[in-house]
Amino acid sequence: MSQLNNDSNDSDNSEDIGSSQNESQIMGGELHSRIKEKVRPLIDMIDNLRSIGIQRYIDIALPTIVVIGDQSSGKSSVLEALCGVALPRGTGIVTRCPLELKLKKVKDGIRWKATVSYRLKTFDVVNLSVGSGRDELSECYTPRTFTMDEPWLVEECVKEAQNELAGEGAGISDELITLEIRSPDVCDLTLIDLPGIARVPVQGQPPDIGNQIRNLIMKFIAKPETINMVVVPCNVDIATTEALQMAMSVDPEGTRTLAVLTKPDIIDRGTERDILATARNEVFHLKIGYIMVKCRGQQQIDQNISLEEASEMERKFFLNHEYFRQLLTDNKATIPQLATELTKHLVNHIRNVLPLLDEEIQKHTTNVRNELRKIEGGPPRDPQGARQFLIESLTGFNDKINSLSSGDLINKENLFIQLRKEYKKWNDHLNRTMSSLNQSATKEQLLKNRGRELAGFSSYRTFEMILQELIAKLMDPAIDLLSTIKGIILKQLLDVSDECFQRYPALRKATEQKIERIQSSQQIKAEERIQEQFEMENIIFTQDDIYFHSLNANGSEIFSDARLPFCDVATKYADMLKTYLEIMVQRMADQVPMLMQYFMLKEASTLLRNDVLTLLDEADVREILYEDSDVSRRRNDLQTRLERLNTAQEIIRPLI
Ligand code: GDP
Ligand code: MG
Repeated sequence: MSQLNNDSNDSDNSEDIGSSQNESQIMGGELHSRIKEKVRPLIDMIDNLRSIGIQRYIDIALPTIVVIGDQSSGKSSVLEALCGVALPRGTGIVTRCPLELKLKKVKDGIRWKATVSYRLKTFDVVNLSVGSGRDELSECYTPRTFTMDEPWLVEECVKEAQNELAGEGAGISDELITLEIRSPDVCDLTLIDLPGIARVPVQGQPPDIGNQIRNLIMKFIAKPETINMVVVPCNVDIATTEALQMAMSVDPEGTRTLAVLTKPDIIDRGTERDILATARNEVFHLKIGYIMVKCRGQQQIDQNISLEEASEMERKFFLNHEYFRQLLTDNKATIPQLATELTKHLVNHIRNVLPLLDEEIQKHTTNVRNELRKIEGGPPRDPQGARQFLIESLTGFNDKINSLSSGDLINKENLFIQLRKEYKKWNDHLNRTMSSLNQSATKEQLLKNRGRELAGFSSYRTFEMILQELIAKLMDPAIDLLSTIKGIILKQLLDVSDECFQRYPALRKATEQKIERIQSSQQIKAEERIQEQFEMENIIFTQDDIYFHSLNANGSEIFSDARLPFCDVATKYADMLKTYLEIMVQRMADQVPMLMQYFMLKEASTLLRNDVLTLLDEADVREILYEDSDVSRRRNDLQTRLERLNTAQEIIRPLI
């Protein structure tokens, strides 16, 4: 850094630029070649940063030179002379969009090459917020390239671009048009030409055009990273120049404001001394100071005087000028000197901004990394990795299903609490049914319905029928319970799938289908088992010991094998029925929920876990891992941004 500063120090800048070399020799001359090696990489760096769109991601602007001045002060003429190419101009407002001029000095090969590019879509260059998510860089530039045989085409093309961006007519736009010029005759510089400050709207201009232009200019010059080149004609009162006032308002110290005095050839006689004093920074002091240049006047343009000739004429003008000759020796005059000064300041500026830029990029890289981490875990792009990712996702799902079915995983609603509540209702229903049995009516029935039995024997068939009728009434509620249980378990399984595969609609859908299919087929299976159970209940059966045990618990008498068959007496019928019902209810109260829990949850979850693994063989991995568009778009955007920031860091680091 210090090396470059030395090279570009005023004290070290003592070469006589105004010697008799011709312009292009001076441009490529010794001074320039000495700082060139250090200048080029820095300017290239900034151009590269700009071309990867880094300014969209960071809050500080890239160092730039902007050209401002009143209408017709000579801005375009100065730029033309700097880059050796005709720029669109005329008497009215002509620069209607910011025009970025990238001057690139090239060695032999081509003599001159220009490329015009601009964005087609609305793109706020100045205030690009982070996270806009737009990635339009590649598609929105429409570069056109021209060779030196057709420089007038450049002018046409810029006009066309302006018409497209700012509309036909005289309106303005803040969209950037880039004109890159590669030539051995230019220096390495990037500048932005802004529309001139208009005092009175011309025909076809909106009435507030003056303010529009001022706002646009302010947007550019307010940024501390910008060097403001203020173009002021020699023949106006510098103190009242609006462009200079605007520059001073954003840069009161004048540390980044360079004034260019134009049209020294058309000043009034007798004003030379005052103008010289201004040029020597003695009147309106600016830290950087002034450079005086002479460009082609309208007449010379009309006479088709080439820029090369004009350059030669400029040098002669200063050499022969009685007053301004001194400026030549002070390195305060001519276009080549202006180029040298601008380059020097731009480079210093870039050097100063670099650490900040680096810090800023670092800061944003960290932010983007953190953002990315939040939505990380997306599928890798390579097929192998994607398959591995799918395996892991499915395993994760299976683990959750496993712990759900074993009661370890508790979702929003606790599955087992929900199930127990339903089982309890079933139990209550059984008990209600049991107590609804009208004991005296059944006793009547038993006595009256005696068949072939001799008197003294009761009808066991009737006893059985009474119980069977009661059991049959329980069938529908059991089936209803099954569908309630299915509903609860299904919802919980779907919740797990939702949670696990939230971002992957295809995977979620496939799993949902499997869950639903399995639950339906398990429901059919469970229903069959329940029906079987009810059919079995038609066999009125229990172990003698169990029966006696309950009977004894219910009555006052003690029954046992030894007392048989004395219990078959009418007075005992009610007890006998009740006892059997109790045993049956106890059996059904457990058996039915157990069937359901087994088929709908335990077996179902095993089946499900096996079934989802078939996705590994059946499904197209890429298709099934297709992501919800919002998340993947956001991640892609962040990844792109991270790549850009990394590239930016790589560009910057070696130069710090
Ligand atoms: P802009 O509106 O600021 O871009 O100004 P232009 O570059 O279009 O110049 C306005 C007019 O001033 C044109 O006719 C130029 O030829 C003329 N002009 C620019 N610089 C000089 C100069 O140094 N001397 C003379 N005599 N005329 C100049
Ligand atoms: Mg202009």
